[in-house]
Amino acid sequence: MKILIVEDEIGIANFLRDGLEDENYSVDVALDGSRGLELATNRIYDLILVDWMLPGTSGIEITKQIRKTNKKVPIVFLTAKDTLQDTVNGLEAGANDYIKKPFQFEELLARIKVQLRTNEEEPTTLSFQGLVLDTTSHQVFKNGVEINLTKKEFSLLYFLLKNKGKVCTRNDIIKEVWEINFETDSSSLDVYINFLRKKLETGVGENIIQTIRGIGYTIRERE
Ligand code: CA
Repeated sequence: MKILIVEDEIGIANFLRDGLEDENYSVDVALDGSRGLELATNRIYDLILVDWMLPGTSGIEITKQIRKTNKKVPIVFLTAKDTLQDTVNGLEAGANDYIKKPFQFEELLARIKVQLRTNEEEPTTLSFQGLVLDTTSHQVFKNGVEINLTKKEFSLLYFLLKNKGKVCTRNDIIKEVWEINFETDSSSLDVYINFLRKKLETGVGENIIQTIRGIGYTIRERE
């Protein structure tokens, strides 16, 4: 597995490279944005870690450029900024996940592993805890009991499960599930999330679909 790190702070870049090499990843480091973009477009990586604040080409610009030619490679961005809008911008630019500096290496590693796992071939069943969605029969089961979903509920759950471990922005969900660009009104998304929760979250205090306030929704293990 090959990872590209685009990070201008040499101490952090070395720390990340050493840690990832210890985990048997093969690592390239780019210390500025233009070198990062050059490597990202000319070589094949399984995942790209991009710092947000870079001299020259910014992390968000790199992400947008990479996405023009490569929709699949997982991109995780590192940000010292933690305003909501920055995070939204990063995800909208095409990043799959983000991690705020300062971070624990273990957390970064766990997020990298999630991205590498979910980038594998599309399976015919998607699952999370006791929940199983079968894409060929269009059935959903919870702890072995079938749950009847409408077409829209099924599509919504499919999208969230397919991106398990990642944050799905409201815009991403609307684009994929409703096949329209939002801006006007995305309140039907919340309505359908509620429908799904009522059908899926039958246990006491159960919370399968997590709300990422101001950003969107995710299905992932609790930290
Ligand atoms: Ca930086």
